[in-house]
Amino acid sequence: MVDTHCHLHFPQFKEDLEDILEKIKEKFSFVVNVGISLKDSLKALNLALKRENIFSTFGIHPHEAKDANLEEFETAFKKLYSEYKHKIVAIGEAGLDFYRNLSPKKVQMEVFEFQIELAKKYKLPLVIHCRQAEKDLIEILKEKGKDVKGIIHCFNGNKDLLKTALDLGYFISYSGIITYPKNENLRETVKYVPIDQILVETDSPYLAPQPVRGKRNSPLYVVYVIQTIADLLDIDFLEFKRIVTVNAKRAFNLPLSLKELRFDPTIKVKNTLYIYLDNPSHEKEIKFFFGKNISKLPYKEDLCAGHILYLIKNPKLYDKIVFVLENPNEHILKLANECKEYLEKRNVHVEVKHGRNSEICRFFGQKII
Ligand SMILES: [Zn+2]
Ligand SMILES: [Zn+2]
Repeated sequence: MVDTHCHLHFPQFKEDLEDILEKIKEKFSFVVNVGISLKDSLKALNLALKRENIFSTFGIHPHEAKDANLEEFETAFKKLYSEYKHKIVAIGEAGLDFYRNLSPKKVQMEVFEFQIELAKKYKLPLVIHCRQAEKDLIEILKEKGKDVKGIIHCFNGNKDLLKTALDLGYFISYSGIITYPKNENLRETVKYVPIDQILVETDSPYLAPQPVRGKRNSPLYVVYVIQTIADLLDIDFLEFKRIVTVNAKRAFNLPLSLKELRFDPTIKVKNTLYIYLDNPSHEKEIKFFFGKNISKLPYKEDLCAGHILYLIKNPKLYDKIVFVLENPNEHILKLANECKEYLEKRNVHVEVKHGRNSEICRFFGQKII
């Protein structure tokens, strides 16, 4: 399990911090403890240094922009990053907040752009906060956000921002607000986000999910966010938990375990088995399928129908088997058809679908807006 955005060093956790840290140690792969100013980022780092599976970020929240000294911030960051590279995993939270406007708009923009440059310079992901500032944010990101790995934290459902963020290959992080009854529009967006770009967070101590709404939030409540999205996507809770954990490691450049790198291009959704067959000549450094790294699949000329049938194991377990082909070459096409023929002779319902089908898009992460 993961929480990609929380503020554990805030005073709201004073009473029971040790308790929570113990539970995090037990139940979580990791959490990211987010800083909102230089002083606060130091506190966030201090806490991260206490526990193995807590990481921290360095950033200036738009509310804090008016008090920030950028030169001082960069000097301190540079020094601490060289010492604690293994703990500082991102720049942010940075961004724009025109809802409360606690810092002048112009200063917010300046401080945000400064942090974009810092993220680029240090090749770190950028945690982006946005409230009632989508238009300006989109403009800045289109112009300056190209070479950054962005994370839209606490995504609020704005479709224009979603489109821009997805086009830039950013991660979309959903918080507890996705569980609130009135947020139907936000829940609707889930199906447009490629599954390998979804993250989950709590933003605790704020924004407790519906079942515990009004209470102080905690990373432990991230389960409500995971469950809500898993239900929306019709994916098993444990499978989705695994996927968002892998996604979070990719987002923050943390190493994947051998198990997480396993080569399994199949996924079961309800009673359908989907098998993803990519084109080997379609060279991508790493290709993720529902959080599974399939870059090392044996998609060479020596791949035969037997390999694919082996992946299916017992076809009688499924109502339907779907071969999903993205840019297939002739060899892959031939294999898919061979398998189809073989299975149909045994009364198994088989479909072969090509990339840009909306159902497939939903499952295989194509951008469809
Ligand atoms: Zn925020
Ligand atoms: Zn936050």
